[in-house]
Amino acid sequence: MSKNPEFVKFDKVDKSYDGKVLVVKDLQLDIAEGEFITMLGPSGSGKTTCLMMLAGFETPTNGEILLDGKIISNIPPHKRGIGMVFQNYALFPHMTVYENLAFPLKVRKIEKNEIDKKVDKALSMVSLNGFESRMPGQLSGGQQQRVAVARALVFDPSVVLMDEPLGALDKNLRESMQYEIKHIHENIGVTVVYVTHDQSEALTMSNRIAVFNDGKVQQLSNPSELYEKPVNSFVAEFIGENNTFNGEVSDISNDKCKVKLSNADILASPISVKSKGDKTTVSLRPERALIEPKEQMDNMFSGKIEEVIYHGDHTRVRINLLGNPEFILKVPNSTSNLELKVNEEIKIGWNSSDARALDPK
Ligand code: ADP
Ligand code: MG
Repeated sequence: MSKNPEFVKFDKVDKSYDGKVLVVKDLQLDIAEGEFITMLGPSGSGKTTCLMMLAGFETPTNGEILLDGKIISNIPPHKRGIGMVFQNYALFPHMTVYENLAFPLKVRKIEKNEIDKKVDKALSMVSLNGFESRMPGQLSGGQQQRVAVARALVFDPSVVLMDEPLGALDKNLRESMQYEIKHIHENIGVTVVYVTHDQSEALTMSNRIAVFNDGKVQQLSNPSELYEKPVNSFVAEFIGENNTFNGEVSDISNDKCKVKLSNADILASPISVKSKGDKTTVSLRPERALIEPKEQMDNMFSGKIEEVIYHGDHTRVRINLLGNPEFILKVPNSTSNLELKVNEEIKIGWNSSDARALDPK
């Protein structure tokens, strides 16, 4: 059976809580069956509101949400077949692990034998067999969150929603849980809609990422495209590191434009600019600029090294370039045998294809 590419569909969805301000604006989003999609964005950008509407705890102000081709507006939350894990959606503290997992099954009137089997299967997905009789208070934070994941999966939902589920965990545990959740997804193929404000978490885990800002999806792409080809300055800034130059387009063709800065001209790819005179912010990833390039590049300038910081696998170099003392370069340590000394003048080069002329900041 082929997978439905529109398994979950937000169709022109708006949401206002007060009847005035739209906190979700004209959301058009298709989620494929079995996909791991992440809604990524700053606090207040509307991510949780989207999950709440999909789960059935909030109603869209305009538009419709469809699940497997059916409009779900009139289906109550517990009949949507959607599992949920939230950062603050705690386990029932007075119930054992077994009882926590059995609860959503009892609600669905499943018989005891079947419940035991499903609880066992869900616990094995999160490697917690043997913990059935523990109380939540007798588990570590990471174990509690794994039980919460198991509880969301125990009734074989068609979709699982996760809202910042790892936010309360420390860094190491968060990273290992990212892989664990990713592997569970790969093993059982359930559709996951994940919410986070952490870009590295989104890049690690997702098939596709929808970047939210101010109630709108700014870009919907796979992780590498999002990083390599941001479509606007917000996305370029929010995902990864970014050198920027503010200027004005002085010449433009199909695949190149010349951008006039206050003290130089640079060549870039025209992404959000159309004509001469357009104001722009050019975005360049730190690893796309080379030190002392052997070959001619579209952009070559000299700059002064301000700071050199060793980071194990790479070295971070801060350079005063074209009047910007915050220009950052990353040099992989395995390939480089350059001597980088503070206050030295060096040549920096990058190609126009790596410099994206976006909307002005
Ligand atoms: P995110 O999850 O991206 O941080 P939210 O969806 O929680 O964003 O919030 C989006 C906007 O809606 C924010 O301005 C927030 O204050 C507002 N908001 C969220 N929930 C409610 C609510 N129940 N009542 C009124 N306003 C809300
Ligand atoms: Mg939220």
